[in-house]
Amino acid sequence: MPTLTVAIPSSLDGAVREAAGQRGQSVDCLVCAALSEYLNSHHHGMYQISTSSALVEGVDEGAVSSRTLLEHGDFGLGTFENFDGEMVIIDGAIYQVRGDGSVTHRKDDFRIPFAIVVRFQEDEELESGAISCLKDIERACDSHRESGNLFYALRLDGHFDNIHARAVGRLSPGTRLVDAAKEQSEFHFSNIEGTLVGFWSPRYSSSFNVPGYHFHFISNDRAKGGHVLECSASALRVGLQMLFEYDVRLPDTPSFLTADLSNDPAVALAKVE
Ligand SMILES: [Zn+2]
Repeated sequence: MPTLTVAIPSSLDGAVREAAGQRGQSVDCLVCAALSEYLNSHHHGMYQISTSSALVEGVDEGAVSSRTLLEHGDFGLGTFENFDGEMVIIDGAIYQVRGDGSVTHRKDDFRIPFAIVVRFQEDEELESGAISCLKDIERACDSHRESGNLFYALRLDGHFDNIHARAVGRLSPGTRLVDAAKEQSEFHFSNIEGTLVGFWSPRYSSSFNVPGYHFHFISNDRAKGGHVLECSASALRVGLQMLFEYDVRLPDTPSFLTADLSNDPAVALAKVE
């Protein structure tokens, strides 16, 4: 990545460092996000490592570095090598929710088998109203999606009455996704502040992505999280970002090069995601 040296007033320098500290972000990441927002670059772009077809076939070998992923976005979700937990990317930080329920802020550089990120900048915000189940969230968001043929990033913040989440545990390399899902742990959280990090993807994209809605949860204290199975809340703040630039980085790992990716993964994805 190029290095940019600029002269700024010391008051602004202090404000940047304070904001980065409060958000648990690096100064680099915060300045990138702020410049990107100001210059409106890649506002509608998403970056993805690998494909859902490869994941279903058990291609879970790390392909692209976490630093490269964070160069392309600050908000998203994914998984880890050997399906070792659920990935949540929020405010430029990567969190790993493992099968034992522990959450780790991953600051190291490691390789990722599958992830999607955007520079989150909402086009629209709304109040969800009462949410008694995940379907209510989908209904609240559906009417605000302009088209069923574009992708959307969704950020929902607030106080959740209940969250039912899961995390897949570490498995031997090459385990297929349907078998990985059998090894998952499930968690129930109640009265918890946090964020749903999610995407909506069109049905036609099933070979690349998980069609429909896909949410991962992270609590405000960054101590709890997982792939969301169900949830309820009295009201949530919802931000939507329309995405129409789709940048996919295909792995050049041996397992990806030799996998049979000719099957339609839609049925397997519907079962496990
Ligand atoms: Zn998930």
